[in-house]
Amino acid sequence: MNLYDISREIKSVLKEDKKDLDSLGIKNDKLAFVLVDGLGWNLAKDIRTSVNPIQVNSIFPSITVTVFATLLTAKKPGEHGILGWRIINKENGSIENLMQKLKNESIELDTYFQNTSSLFIMPDVATKSMMSRLKVIPYFTFWDGLYKFKTALEMQSNDFIFFYIPYVDAASHLYGPYHEVTLSTARDVVQKIDCISTYFKEKYSILVTADHGHTQISNIVDLKKDKDFMEEMDFPPYGDHRSLMFKGRFPKSLLKYGANVIEGGKVEEMIGGSKNKPDYLVIPKDDSIIIYWDDDRKHEFRGSHGGLTQDEMKIPLYLYQ
Ligand SMILES: [Zn+2]
Repeated sequence: MNLYDISREIKSVLKEDKKDLDSLGIKNDKLAFVLVDGLGWNLAKDIRTSVNPIQVNSIFPSITVTVFATLLTAKKPGEHGILGWRIINKENGSIENLMQKLKNESIELDTYFQNTSSLFIMPDVATKSMMSRLKVIPYFTFWDGLYKFKTALEMQSNDFIFFYIPYVDAASHLYGPYHEVTLSTARDVVQKIDCISTYFKEKYSILVTADHGHTQISNIVDLKKDKDFMEEMDFPPYGDHRSLMFKGRFPKSLLKYGANVIEGGKVEEMIGGSKNKPDYLVIPKDDSIIIYWDDDRKHEFRGSHGGLTQDEMKIPLYLYQ
């Protein structure tokens, strides 16, 4: 089971009276969905909770904005075409920074949540702009978010409540997935949600999961410093730094980094469609990221995601009901 399957399951509960699928066995008509950004199975497995999680898979590329688009549309990445923070604009022959774009404007997603009784509890993050036509309640700290989540569960006025929590991902990017700051952030977040979910499990079926996990990063390749690459490439990469995407001719100078190169029909298979499909996918080694764009240089990454390692792809799914 992966996040695409889960998105279809949610859609079937909300829109189709559970007619199509029943793989999760959701019992209640009212559903809450808690998305803990960056909570991989590697972290979740050691956290004590009142229900045991099952192990499920993220989707490829294992990136928050891609997962959001899949959850909001119940479509595969290759169907909705949002394949990372850097997207290709074919009309203008350019590559756009989706993070910047979302900060300045909202993007219209073909979401099935419109005309449903749904509430989205969101901190101030770029992905909020994907919900411009939905009912969104902003929150300002973790405790404020918990309060708003609890209040929404208590009122029972929505059939679906979405609660997004970014703190584990933020800690893991900064310190790495196995640092004590990340571990204690994950434990605090999961146990608080466990407590609330246990209390409200009669009123709502509550799903708690993640968008992806993290892999430890110890090596950064900067393509702008690679003269061979800069000479050879026809068009810069898009996607993200652990799932680079190329159009046109493949730059062979990348082979020296030992990355996994995927091409042809396999690309379509992996992203599940052909919208904005790259000709080549480059997935760096387990401990590496490959950067190109200037704003990638502003951050120091100790943990990251986007690729296909177990640490990135394996996530927990808790069901309270
Ligand atoms: Zn992240």
